[in-house]
Amino acid sequence: MRQESTSSAYAAPSVSGAGELLQLLRDETPRTRAELAKLTGLARSTVGARVDALLASGLLAPSGEAASTGGRPPVRFAFNPEARVVVGADIGATHGRVALTDLSGRPICEIGESLDITDGPEVVLDWLVATTRRLLEQAGRQPRDLIGIGIGVPGPVEHSSGRPMRPPIMPGWDGYDVPGHLHRDFDVPVLVDNDVNIMALGEHAMAHPDVEHLLFVKVATGIGAGIISGGRLHRGAVGAAGDLGHVAAPHAPEVLCSCGNVGCLEAVASGPAISKALREIDIIAESNSDIVDLVRGGNIPAALAVRQAGRTIGEVLATCVSLLNPSVIVIGGSLVQAGESLIAGVREVVYGRSLPLATGVLQIVPATTGVQAGVIGAATMVIQHALTADRVDLAIARLSAS
Ligand SMILES: [Zn+2]
Repeated sequence: MRQESTSSAYAAPSVSGAGELLQLLRDETPRTRAELAKLTGLARSTVGARVDALLASGLLAPSGEAASTGGRPPVRFAFNPEARVVVGADIGATHGRVALTDLSGRPICEIGESLDITDGPEVVLDWLVATTRRLLEQAGRQPRDLIGIGIGVPGPVEHSSGRPMRPPIMPGWDGYDVPGHLHRDFDVPVLVDNDVNIMALGEHAMAHPDVEHLLFVKVATGIGAGIISGGRLHRGAVGAAGDLGHVAAPHAPEVLCSCGNVGCLEAVASGPAISKALREIDIIAESNSDIVDLVRGGNIPAALAVRQAGRTIGEVLATCVSLLNPSVIVIGGSLVQAGESLIAGVREVVYGRSLPLATGVLQIVPATTGVQAGVIGAATMVIQHALTADRVDLAIARLSAS
């Protein structure tokens, strides 16, 4: 432990508040010891000890000098996002994307490959382990630089245990110990969540970092939402919050859903539901990207069908707006690439049905992070977990004990 600067006339102040000090520095603004003392109201000696502990951990690094007020100019310090690396993995039904990011969630390098989720957890997670090793090698980093692995999967997950729970499109994954599998190779925290929560975290971190209340809605083969409330992801009691796909859509026809109920939002407004509606008027769109291509190519019935799906989703979202009072609704997922039709339908109903107080500041916008939302969100989930004040203090205590 480096405490030279505080060791002489008085007892060394505790550095257990170093993690708290780091929270303040995570905005990446460089500050001097004096500026930090002023900002926190702490004694200069306390700040000095905490800065030293953070410097020793690598999480803080010198970052230039402040203007001199006579004598040696004081050194500024800033959060060092390159101190460690994080793995963010976005596992889809047919595609996997893995990024190595810094501690700000910025991707350093990335690998995306085709895979088949139905090959089961052993095959897919072995691929993830091998891909993680390749990324570490590409970036010239060691496994000890890794602080955690975040994984998004296309199905419900019990977040506390990292086990998928009866995921409909992931045969063989029900109850599987995903973190346990990764722990065979990497001794770091492994956090797992469903793809929609991961995308919500990614979109929030990248495009709307200052928004406290945000609803992210994915519209693709399935429909789901990720809820950011008070700046944090709201998962609910068992991680099922935001599962909008199987909410009954108001005024929906009695269409049978894959879950066994009738009239679910997913059964009437998802990509497959739009395909089915188009087939009834002899327009063939087998996949979500076929629908997107039709709309972009100026096919009016396809644009109308997508807009109608937007309205139906809007009816459910109007209820969500009354319940959650978000200031931003982000619409993501493959169907948002169809352009304005989907969002126009959502806006039409949400602004028409919600009360002015709730819609006065409400923006309804398309997702902007695209394919990177998943990997960045998965990395963000790990960073939020690993860099809390408590865990930073713990890491520093371990470092000084070793
Ligand atoms: Zn359903």
